[in-house]
Amino acid sequence: NADIPQPVLDVIARLRELGHAVYLVGGCVRDMVRQVHPKDFDVATSALPQEVQRAFRKVIPTGIQHGTVTVLQDGTHVEVTTFRSEGDYLDGRRPSSVAFERDIVKDLSRRDFTINAMAYNPLDRELVDPFGGQGDLQAHLIRCVGSAQERFSEDGLRPLRAVRFAAVLGFSLDDATRAAIPATLGVFRKVALERVREELVKLLLSPRAEIGLRLLADTGLLDVFLPEVARAEPQAASLARAAVQAAPLEVEVRMAVLLADLADRAQTRDIGLRLKFPNKAADLVALLVEHAKAEAQVGASDASLRRLLARLGPAQLPLWVAVARARVQVRAPEQLPEVEALFTRLEAITASKPPLSAKDLALTGGDIMATLGVGPSPVVGEATRFLVESVLDEPALNTAEALQARLKAWHTQAAR
Ligand code: ATP
Ligand code: MG
Repeated sequence: NADIPQPVLDVIARLRELGHAVYLVGGCVRDMVRQVHPKDFDVATSALPQEVQRAFRKVIPTGIQHGTVTVLQDGTHVEVTTFRSEGDYLDGRRPSSVAFERDIVKDLSRRDFTINAMAYNPLDRELVDPFGGQGDLQAHLIRCVGSAQERFSEDGLRPLRAVRFAAVLGFSLDDATRAAIPATLGVFRKVALERVREELVKLLLSPRAEIGLRLLADTGLLDVFLPEVARAEPQAASLARAAVQAAPLEVEVRMAVLLADLADRAQTRDIGLRLKFPNKAADLVALLVEHAKAEAQVGASDASLRRLLARLGPAQLPLWVAVARARVQVRAPEQLPEVEALFTRLEAITASKPPLSAKDLALTGGDIMATLGVGPSPVVGEATRFLVESVLDEPALNTAEALQARLKAWHTQAAR
C-alpha cells in the first residue's frame, strides 16, 4: 500500500464509511502486482455517480453518463467510476448502453485483458482476480477476458491494445487471443484512426517496439492502417523495425525511422495526416524522412552541410541526428564512424551560427530595395534568394557592405 497516494486512500475510506463497495481497478492494480509504480490510480465503486458527488466537497462531473466523477481530494484528482456493465456493441466501437452494477466482478468482466481485470481493496488488502490475471502476469501473457473472438468483435480497438500491451510489458499473446486477431480485422477497420494512432504511439515508445511492430505485421493489423510498411519487402520491413528499436524514445524520431526507407517525404506526410497526427508533427516526420539518409552526406562540403541545416532548421538537428544514427547503426554499422564524424561537423557548423535564411541576412528587405533602387516587386524576392545562396556558400560575406557589393554586381549582370 506504500505506493498508494494518501488522497486516493482517503477517497476509498470515505466511500467505504458510507457503506459502498470500493476498489482500485485497471492498470494500477496490474502495476502494483508487477511491483511497478502505477502512473495513475482509478477507483471503482458500487456508489452511484450522484452518491459519489454527494460524498465529497469538490467534484467534477467528468463523464457522469459513463459513471465517472473526478474527486478533488487535497489537491489531487481522483477518478471514481461506478461499477458498470456494457450492453451489446452494435458498431464495433462503443456499447449500445451501459448499466451501473453493484458487483465488482460484473465490472471486471467488461474489461479487456485478464491482467487489466483485477481489483484491489487497500483497506482489507483484498485482491479480486476472477480471470487469472495474476497467473497471466507471471506467465507474461496477454489474454482476453472471456472469448477473444467475442471481445474483439465488440470493440475493434482491443486487438491493437493487446499488441500494444505485449510491446509495453514485453509479454506474449495467449494463443486464442492471437488467433482471434486475423479473424476480427473487419471490426478493427471501423476504429477511428485517432484511437489507432494513440495506441501506435504507445507501442512505438515502448521498450519492445520492434516486437510490437512485428506482431502488428504478423497479425494483419498493420496492413489496415500502415499498408506502406505492411507491404514492404520482408527484409526492408525487418530492418526498419530494428532501426526503430535502436532509436531514442521520441515519437517523431521513431516514426521517421520506421518510414525512412519505405516512404518518401510526401507519402510520409500523407501517412501522418491519415493517422491524425497534428500537422506540425506530420510535417516534421516528413522532413526527417526526406533527409534521413546521412550516409549520402559523408564527404559533403561545408556549404552543402549548411544547406542541409537550412532545410532542417537548426532546432531539428538533434532529431535528425537521432534518426540518421539509428538507421546507420542497423543498416550499415561499418559506416558509423564516418557518419558520426559528419554529425560532429554539423554540430560545429550549427554552433558557429552561420546565416541560413533571409532573416539572418545583414541586409533587410528595405536595405535590398534601397540598394537596387526599386520598390516592392518580385525582383526583391529573387535578390533575397540570391543573397541567401551567397552566404550559404560563404558565411563571411554576411556584412552590409559585402552584400551590397554582391547585390549591385548581380543586378548589373541581370540587367545585361
Ligand atoms: P496505461 O494507462 O498504462 O496505458 P491502463 O491499463 O490504465 O494502461 P487504460 O487505457 O488507461 O489502460 O484503461 C484503463 C482500464 O480500462 C484498463 O486497464 C482496462 O481494464 C479498461 N479498458 C480500457 N480500454 C478498454 C477497452 N477498449 N475494452 C475493455 N476494457 C478497457
Ligand atoms: Mg491508464
